[in-house]
Amino acid sequence: MSLNSDSVLFNSLSFKSSTYRSPQAGLRVLITGAVHGNEICGTHAILRVINDIDAGVLTLKSGVVTFVPVTNTLAYQKKQRIGDRNLNRRLRPTEDPKEFEDHVANWLCPLMQQHQVLLDLHSFRGAGQAFVMVGPENNDAQVEPFQFAHEEEVLAQCLGVNRFVDGWLSTYARGVLRRQSPISDREFGMGTTEYMRSVGGYALTLECGQHDDPMAKDVAYQAILNTLRLLNVIDGSIENGATKMEVLRIYEVVDKHHENDQFCRDWASFDEIKQGCLIGTRHDGTPVLAEMDGRIIFPDANAMGNEEWFYLARRNDRLEK
Ligand SMILES: [Zn+2]
Repeated sequence: MSLNSDSVLFNSLSFKSSTYRSPQAGLRVLITGAVHGNEICGTHAILRVINDIDAGVLTLKSGVVTFVPVTNTLAYQKKQRIGDRNLNRRLRPTEDPKEFEDHVANWLCPLMQQHQVLLDLHSFRGAGQAFVMVGPENNDAQVEPFQFAHEEEVLAQCLGVNRFVDGWLSTYARGVLRRQSPISDREFGMGTTEYMRSVGGYALTLECGQHDDPMAKDVAYQAILNTLRLLNVIDGSIENGATKMEVLRIYEVVDKHHENDQFCRDWASFDEIKQGCLIGTRHDGTPVLAEMDGRIIFPDANAMGNEEWFYLARRNDRLEK
């Protein structure tokens, strides 16, 4: 199979993983690509790393690494984000699988439980630089109790990207509560990394770049190598880790109230916003203003009424403590 080809073909709905196990005890690491079917930089990078290991270019040092080049096989074949629904919402095993993603979950969740660390590789639609999504700080709260914040911080800083984002699940859960959605539980925001944390591991989502950016494959490849090197799974030293990271914490999700609520400009993810600046206008003319300095994330001009419109993030000092 040519790794230069843009169409790496997996013409099967079957689930496939490849595991390498060193005779030396060590960490158990899982690397996933194409959780969203049109995000294939991770697929390419994973196949390249598998090739390198098979060719003896990379040598296993300790522990276990499992690669899943294509996680959502239906979405991948459709060349779309989702098969029947978003795999990264309400991810959990079910006794009564209906949608295709239920079957993915019934295979993927036990696989995650067999590992301790997850690196999940994604890409995004708009322009912009790569970033890493990190879990919460250590806490005993109900939404997302956690104890491996330090491990995630160290891993996030070795990947080779300079933007660090946290606060996703707590903000998302608040939005779901406020919307009084019929599914008003935090599990709706449960994706791969949240599930991994809920079963005692730690995990990062790496957004490697724009979907079609050929560089995104290289970002993913370097991040896999750096992850496996940091965790002592393969030989070699970390290359091009982050020097200075911008740390952003998502603190608010703003919903559209009406489908005619409109942005005042064509916002891109991570555009800078200043306190008091106009972000958009409600359909009745009410201005939507920025509460404080920060950045806008995941703006969705096409959201429907009562859906997430955009997220707000502000700078955070968690890496300076
Ligand atoms: Zn994605």
